[in-house]
Amino acid sequence: MKNLKLPISIDPYKSAQRRLECNGYFEMSGLERLLAEVDKAESEQINVVVNFDVDEQGLIVISGSAETQVALTCQRCNEPFQQELKVKYCYSPVKDEDSAEQLPSHYDTVVLDENGEVNLRELVEDELIIAIPLIPKHNLSECSAKADTSWGELPDTLEKPNPFDVLKNLK
Ligand SMILES: [Zn+2]
Repeated sequence: MKNLKLPISIDPYKSAQRRLECNGYFEMSGLERLLAEVDKAESEQINVVVNFDVDEQGLIVISGSAETQVALTCQRCNEPFQQELKVKYCYSPVKDEDSAEQLPSHYDTVVLDENGEVNLRELVEDELIIAIPLIPKHNLSECSAKADTSWGELPDTLEKPNPFDVLKNLK
C-alpha cells in the first residue's frame, strides 16, 4: 500500500462500499496551480492519505491528509525558505451545488464530475493552496532580517533633531 501512485479521479461510491483506505502520492509536476503559487517545489511528491467511508446518515465521506514541501520567499528578509504544507480534509460528494446545501456543515462539499467521480488531485491541490501562508515568513530565529525591521523602521526623513542645532538656535 505504501507509495501507491493515486488515480487522479476516483468513484467515491464504489470506494466507500469497499471502505477503501489509500496511502499514496501525486506527482508534484501535475499540480500546476499549486506550483504557480510557490517559488518552487522542494519535493517531487504530494503524500496523500485518503479514506472512503459511509457515515451513520448514509453519506459518503472522503477524508484524509496531504503534505509536501515547497519553497516560498520570506516577506521579511526576501530570502527563500522551505515551508511544509500539511492539510487535513473531510469531504462529502454531491451531484450539484444545490444538494450541497443539504449537507451537514462539518463536511466540505465536492461536486461529482460527469462520470460520477471525484477529482481527488484537484481536491488535494485546492487544500494545499489554501494552506500557503498569506504572508510567508521565516521563523523569527531563522530570519536574516533584524527582528525589529518587521515592525517597520522610521523613514530617514523623520530623524530626530540634532541637539546641537537646537543649541545653535538658542544663541
Ligand atoms: Zn526571513
